[in-house]
Amino acid sequence: MVSNNFIGSGNFEKHSPTLPLGGGGANLDDLISISRFYGKDSRFVIAGGGNTSYKNQKKIWVKASGYPLATITEDGFAVLNRALLRYMSEKEYSNDPTEREEQVKNDLATATITKDKRPSVETSMHNIIEYAFVVHLHPTLVNGLMCSQNAEKELTNLFGEKLIYIEYTDPGYVLFKKVDERIKEYRQRFSEEPQVIWLQNHGIFVAADTIDEIKSIYDSIFTKLENAIKTPIPTGERATCGCTEEILPALRMMVSTENLKTLKVRKNELIKYFYDSKKHQQNIIKPFTPDQIVYCKSNYLFFNDESPEQVIADTKKRIPEFVSKFGYLPKVLLIKGIGLVAVGGHAKQCDIILDVFEDAMKVAYIAQSFGGAHPMTQTQIDFIDNWEVENYRRSVSNTQSNGRVENKTIIVTGAAQGFGEGIAECLLREGANIVVADLNEEAGKATTERFNAMTKSNRAIFVKTNVAEINSLQNLVHETVCHFGGIDCFISNAGVLRAGGLEDMTPENFEFVTKINYNAYFLCTKAVSKVMKLQTAHAPNNYYSDIIQINSKSGLRGSKANFAYAGGKFGGIGLTQSFALELAPFRIKVNSICPGNYYEGPLWSDPDNGLFVQYLKAGKVPGAKTVDDVKEFYLAQVPMRKGCTPEDVTKGVLYLMEQCGETGQALPITGGQVMLN
Ligand SMILES: [Zn+2]
Repeated sequence: MVSNNFIGSGNFEKHSPTLPLGGGGANLDDLISISRFYGKDSRFVIAGGGNTSYKNQKKIWVKASGYPLATITEDGFAVLNRALLRYMSEKEYSNDPTEREEQVKNDLATATITKDKRPSVETSMHNIIEYAFVVHLHPTLVNGLMCSQNAEKELTNLFGEKLIYIEYTDPGYVLFKKVDERIKEYRQRFSEEPQVIWLQNHGIFVAADTIDEIKSIYDSIFTKLENAIKTPIPTGERATCGCTEEILPALRMMVSTENLKTLKVRKNELIKYFYDSKKHQQNIIKPFTPDQIVYCKSNYLFFNDESPEQVIADTKKRIPEFVSKFGYLPKVLLIKGIGLVAVGGHAKQCDIILDVFEDAMKVAYIAQSFGGAHPMTQTQIDFIDNWEVENYRRSVSNTQSNGRVENKTIIVTGAAQGFGEGIAECLLREGANIVVADLNEEAGKATTERFNAMTKSNRAIFVKTNVAEINSLQNLVHETVCHFGGIDCFISNAGVLRAGGLEDMTPENFEFVTKINYNAYFLCTKAVSKVMKLQTAHAPNNYYSDIIQINSKSGLRGSKANFAYAGGKFGGIGLTQSFALELAPFRIKVNSICPGNYYEGPLWSDPDNGLFVQYLKAGKVPGAKTVDDVKEFYLAQVPMRKGCTPEDVTKGVLYLMEQCGETGQALPITGGQVMLN
C-alpha cells in the first residue's frame, strides 16, 4: 500500500515511490495478460467497454481506441508523456463544453507519443491514480449496484466508508476533474492512495502495483456483490419460435428503407422475463450507461401483441413514428414470444447490440436487490448523444466495406466442400452473410469456422440440412431468419452424380439422383419462397429476392451414359421457368446457371484419382498416352480452353442478383462449349 501524502495540486513531481523510474519490459507483459484476462470474460467486458493501463514515473501505456482487450498486444496501447498529462489537470479550459472537449482532445493528442494511436478518453483518470496498474471495467455485477436507486447507501453498507463514489457525471473533462478532486480529498483524509473508484451509471476503477493484487480486489468485490443479490438472474435458453419467420423478414424490410439491415434474435429466460410483462419493461426503457447509448442508442421498441399479423401492423405504424421522433432507426426491438431482436448495419453489429442490451437487462434485474433500476436522466442521455468522442468510437466499430452483395443473406446448399464451398467463399468476400447448408456436419462446421476467420462485418453459419426433406429445409429457413432476419438469395447447389448407361443404371440409383437433383429443388423453392414473399411484400420497390439453381451444361445438352443426371438437370430448367412465372409477381427472380466442367478442380485434376488419371488408365480417350493428352482432349472441346471455376459461376450469380431484367433463364458458363439457340 502506498502511503504518500499528496497535498495540493501543484505537487507534480511527487510520485508514488513504488512506481518504476522507466522502461516497460516485463510489466507490459503483465498489462497484456491482465487486459486479456478480463477482456475475454463477458462478465467483465461487453463490446468495447473498459480499458487498462500501466505506468512508470515518466510514461503511461493505455489501451488505444479500437483495440479489444481480449486480444490486445503491445501494439494496442498508446504511450503518453505523463508530465504533459499532468499539465492538463491544471490548465484552464473553455467553459463551452464542445470547445472544451476539443481543446482537451488536442492536448491529449499532444501528450501522446505513439501518434498513430488514439488513447482512451479515460486516460487522464488512469494517469492520476498513482499505482502501476489500473483496470477500468464496466462489469454487469458492478453496474447492477451502480445503476440502482440506492447505489451510494448500499455501497457503504457493503464496502464501508473508505471508498470513492462518484455520482454520475458527463464523461470527458468534467468527470476527470471530479475524480481528480475526490482522489485528492481521499489522500488527505486517509493518507493513502485510493485503489477502488466507483462510478454511478458507469463502472469501476481498480488500481494496484501488481496484477495479482488487482485480481484479488476484483475477486473480493465480486464475492460481496454476488452475496448481496436477493433474487438470482433467470438463466437458461429458450427455443426460438416458429412464428419468427412470419414476422422478422417483414420487419427487416421495414427498417431497410435506406440500406439493407441485418436482424438477429436472442431468446432466453431473462429476455422472457422482460417481454412477458409491461411492468418489467418499465425498468429497461431508458439506458443505464453511456456504453449502452453508444451501441444500442437510447430508445427501444417493445411489442406486446399476440399474433404475427398484429406485430407487423403495429411495426408498420410505429417504426416511421419512431424515426420521425428520434431521427434514427431503432436498434433494439423486444417482441413478445419472439425475443430480443437486434437491428444492425451488419451481422457483427447485431451480436454487439444483443450483448449490450442483454447486459442492460441483467443490470436492471440485479438493481432490484438495491432499491430498483436507476437509468440515466434525459439531460445525461442528450449529452452522450451529442458527444463527438463517442461518435468516433461508434464509427470505429462501424467500419463497413462495400462488397457487391454487402449485408445480403445467401443460403448455399452443399457448401460444406467443393464447388459449393468455392461459390460461398466468393460471395462471403463480397460481403454476404453465408448459410452453409449441408448434410456433412464435420466439413460444414470446419468451412464455417474458416469463413468466419475471413469476415469483416459479415458472418457465416452452418445448418445441418437434408435437401430431400421438407422439415429439414423448414429448419434451415428458421435458423437463417433467426440469425440474419431474412433470405435474399437461395442457391440450390447440392447435387449428386451417378453415371451409367441403360444396362448398368439401377432403378434405385436413378431414383436417388432424381430425388436430390430434381425433387429437392422443388422442396427448397417451396420452403424459401414463403419467406421471400413476406419480404418483398414489405420491401422498397427496387428490392428483389433470388432463387438460383446451379444446374449443369448437362441440363442443356444430353450426356452419354449419364442420363439420370442430365434428365434431372433438364427437368430443373423446367422448374426454373415455371417457378419464375409463378414468383415474378412477388419480385422473386428464379434462374439457373449451367456450368461446364471444373477441369482445374480436384474432381478432374487430382493427381492420384482425378478423372483425367482415371480416363487415361481406362483408355477412354483413344491414342492418349499421358494425363496431358487426356486433358488436351477435353480442353479442345471448350472454345475458351479453360474449365469453369467457382469464381466464374459466382460472377454469374452476382449478375443474376444485380439485374432485374430477366427471370426464368438458364445461364451457361461453359467457356463456349454449349451455346444457346
Ligand atoms: Zn468507462
